[in-house]
Amino acid sequence: MGQDIRELINKALSGDRYSIAKVITLIEYEPYKFKEFFSSYVKEVSSIIIGITGPPGVGKSTLINCLIRELRSQGRSVAVLAIDPSSPISGGALLGDRVRVRCVDEGVFFRSLSTPPNEEMPWKIYLIIDFLSMLNFDYIIIEQPGAGQINTKVSNITDVLIVILQPLLGDDIQMLKAGLTELGDIYVLNKADLPQAELYYTLVKPIIQELKRDDWIPPLVKVSSISCRGIKELVDAIDRFIMYSRSKGLLSKKKLIRKVFEVSDIVLSNLEGVVREVIKEELSSVNKEELTKKPVLALYEEVLGKVLQRICRCLT
Ligand code: GDP
Repeated sequence: MGQDIRELINKALSGDRYSIAKVITLIEYEPYKFKEFFSSYVKEVSSIIIGITGPPGVGKSTLINCLIRELRSQGRSVAVLAIDPSSPISGGALLGDRVRVRCVDEGVFFRSLSTPPNEEMPWKIYLIIDFLSMLNFDYIIIEQPGAGQINTKVSNITDVLIVILQPLLGDDIQMLKAGLTELGDIYVLNKADLPQAELYYTLVKPIIQELKRDDWIPPLVKVSSISCRGIKELVDAIDRFIMYSRSKGLLSKKKLIRKVFEVSDIVLSNLEGVVREVIKEELSSVNKEELTKKPVLALYEEVLGKVLQRICRCLT
């Protein structure tokens, strides 16, 4: 690790915002440069990691702005990672939207991470979370859009998963029943100010109660993020879930699950990159005639052989 990176990290660890942002960018693009740092800095991750997911437009960013304000008013610090380039949280701050900027102070850090279209969550985020946790943020919020099937990756790395719903009727109820949202620890019915909200709440509540796990019945909290109504109740629900998790030993269990998941995901992600490259190279070296004549399975075996050869060579 170079002297310049060491200095940058030290500045970031002392709380300098610009250096924090710079370290995160470096981790995103050159994660291996931080291998020594992460090995030498032995510290239990003590931040509570909260995942917030739901379909685009459900109000995640608006809700997170309220959540930040509430957590700050209770003296708790919070870092937000938005895995969504279109997220208006940091965009709002940049644009100078007063409502959004008002809640930005020294106890808050925002960052949105760009995601390649075919990758639901870049693995570097695991290192970024560890880094933010070293900065002693009480909470690290991961905002992740999840249309249809809720992203399972985010549920593997968070201590609390909050699923945001909005009052829509009709097919939506059927989708919920099909078990699309069963990973949530807490459910939020956002846009509770809309006229159809009460009816939706009545219909959805029993479905969510059926998602009981051990002694935990996931609550459905009514929130109106445009006025931040119901946010205090949401923070209470988060606290209750954390207390429950602690009492059952789930929090430490989750940290272990997270480690196992992250290592597997990093290996798989890197392997997939190499494998794709070799497949492309091998197939582009086959001439057109051969490609036309040879059956798929024969080509598959040849290419697989080359892939394995290349991997074995890398390992020796
Ligand atoms: P995201 O894509 O999930 O991050 O959703 P946004 O936070 O960008 O919100 C999408 C739209 O829903 C915006 O026009 C918000 O103003 C609106 N919205 C968010 N929360 C509420 C709410 O509680 N009530 C109403 N009526 N609209 C809301």
